[in-house]
Amino acid sequence: MRPEILNPLFAETRSLEGVGPKLAKPLERLGLARVKDVAYHLPERFVSRRAIADLDEGAEGEQVVVALTPTEHRAARSQRGPYRVLAQDAAGNICAITYFGRASYAAKKLLPVGERRWVAGRLDRYGDMLQIVHPDHVEGGGEGDGGDGGGAHLGRLNEPVYRLSEGLTQPRVAALVDQALARLPDLPEWIEPGQLERAGWPAWREALRLAHRNGDAAARDRLAYDELLANSLALLLVKADSRRRKGQALVGDGRLRAKLSLPFEMTGAQKRSIAEIEGDMAQEAPMLRLLQGDVGAGKTVVALAAMLIAVEAGRQAALLAPTEILARQHHETLRRMAASTGVEVALLTGRAKGREREGLLMGLLDGSIDIVVGTHSLFQDSVAYRDLGLVVIDEQHRFGVAQRLALAAKGRRAPHTLAMTATPIPRSLTLANYGEMDVSRLDELPPGRQAIDTRVVAQERMEDVVAGVARHLAGGQQAYWVCPMVRENDSDDIAAAEARFAALRERFGDAVVMVHGQLAPEIKDANMHRFASGAAKLLVATTVIEVGVDVPAATLMVIEQAERFGLAQLHQLRGRVGRGSEKSVCLLLRGNELSETGKKRLALMRETQDGFRIAEEDLELRGGGELLGTRQSGEAAFHLADLDQVQRLLPAAHADARLLIDRDGGLTSARGEAARILLYLFERDWGVQLLRGG
Ligand code: ADP
Ligand code: MG
Repeated sequence: MRPEILNPLFAETRSLEGVGPKLAKPLERLGLARVKDVAYHLPERFVSRRAIADLDEGAEGEQVVVALTPTEHRAARSQRGPYRVLAQDAAGNICAITYFGRASYAAKKLLPVGERRWVAGRLDRYGDMLQIVHPDHVEGGGEGDGGDGGGAHLGRLNEPVYRLSEGLTQPRVAALVDQALARLPDLPEWIEPGQLERAGWPAWREALRLAHRNGDAAARDRLAYDELLANSLALLLVKADSRRRKGQALVGDGRLRAKLSLPFEMTGAQKRSIAEIEGDMAQEAPMLRLLQGDVGAGKTVVALAAMLIAVEAGRQAALLAPTEILARQHHETLRRMAASTGVEVALLTGRAKGREREGLLMGLLDGSIDIVVGTHSLFQDSVAYRDLGLVVIDEQHRFGVAQRLALAAKGRRAPHTLAMTATPIPRSLTLANYGEMDVSRLDELPPGRQAIDTRVVAQERMEDVVAGVARHLAGGQQAYWVCPMVRENDSDDIAAAEARFAALRERFGDAVVMVHGQLAPEIKDANMHRFASGAAKLLVATTVIEVGVDVPAATLMVIEQAERFGLAQLHQLRGRVGRGSEKSVCLLLRGNELSETGKKRLALMRETQDGFRIAEEDLELRGGGELLGTRQSGEAAFHLADLDQVQRLLPAAHADARLLIDRDGGLTSARGEAARILLYLFERDWGVQLLRGG
């Protein structure tokens, strides 16, 4: 049960004043469902801006507030085009106020022609005109005296700037944050007092207030530390729990593995990993092992070997995939590979209905199904296994540990767990992501892989790129075209991808198909299938193709706005090509305004194909400031702690967590109680749930 003291934080955001149905959608898009989410919606940055009487006073790139009178509205010429409002300052200088996407709908009302407004934002240049893109504030009033008057209060220091979504404004979010902060309870301290004092950190409530007021570094560190501590505590509780639980030693006699007839020799790394897994499974304590191997390293066959060991020992094995597409693909591959062993591989996804589903559930319950592949439907309440001995989780980072535990709870006894990931995680971050799991690394690619010719091309050269794709397709080969999608189902990005699809379709006809997250699953599957079978030649996609998809005849990949992707993600995407015997090419299209770091990052992609090196150097290049928790990096570990904080603070947080668990494994002391509150606060309460069993 969640401690009562947290109730005000877990109240719905709707309970805040002034939040009606109209704000529901925008808040949902930002993930601000509860008061606590609002309190933790920390500013992205702070601005200090200067009030200027006319535009001549402002410097390019400066944050200003200036009185402007709109003279003309210029609607966007295309869906992605800018919506511009031309406006005049007191001296008659002209400036454009520019909006993109849905934000432009608001422009008409905000900036009526002929009425003076205070506009706050960054002064930029567009061609030979000044412009302000997506101003932070537009306010009326204060007629009269140039620079002061109604807008003067906007020319202030350290104003927080929050991440927004359409339908929200800065003042609106700031007001909600104020309300949320006013409701913060006074929570007991969970950080070890010595640590708190050494670091000079404020108490929790004060830290949140400071982080919003001025972004105080100590306050932000403390909040990040809280998150890291919660994470370490939860992972250590899992580890302790799995040590306590009885598993079952599984020893295979090798009869099924002997019947495997593979078209290749296993690499040394594969053999080593299988031996490590076999060793773990032969122990009574449940295995908790991570198989880390770059894209194409050959994890699937290792998983199959592990599953066959379970079947040889008379138990069942389940493989959990993150998406429907991947589950189907794994099912195909495994069925093909396992054919010579006589072991059937079943598929269970959310789409199995009626009789088919009943048959599958029966088979799992009576044990006639030995190996099953599926999505999260594998561990819905209605699914029961006769004797589940091994759970393999593909692309582990897509699932929370909580889900893994739910699946593990299915076995009569705790099953062995093998998690697989293609995300090359720097050694310094393995701990944060995987706690204390044992790790097997596939650090050797199967022989004969061809290097992928990677080039960085300016986005402006679109026509050349399309011509290149045309030549490629004319040569009988297939290609991927990847459009960026930084936040899941971002409507602007979807619109851009759709627009690109339409343009390519005009050029290449129905040789082009598309998949993205907002398409109906049947359509997505059908399109994917058309591409995989070779009926379609060009696949336009957002990052749903990132993991696992295997179409060896696709030897060209174009990635638009490559600078918007995390390097780990680019690496994963690029791994979709270079799978066959033909030489493969990857074109990284880049925008014009690329930072120095941005250039270096793309250059690194050109230079190497070693996923571990890419991960390590990306970490160096980005340094602090980039969130680990974003979809961009493909990781879902943290919302607050950035890379720099993880590196600086994690060792202490982990040591602190371990000490606490060693002394008070049941979390019953005063500090233990505080730690429980922390676990609930960061929704790592599955850690606490485990305590009940112990
Ligand atoms: P991963 O899941 O690690 O990205 P896969 O298991 O999909 O990689 O393997 C990629 C490709 O390499 C598959 O076509 C697979 O059959 C092949 N493969 C796996 N192991 C070997 C090996 N030892 N030698 C040659 N090819 C291999
Ligand atoms: Mg794979």
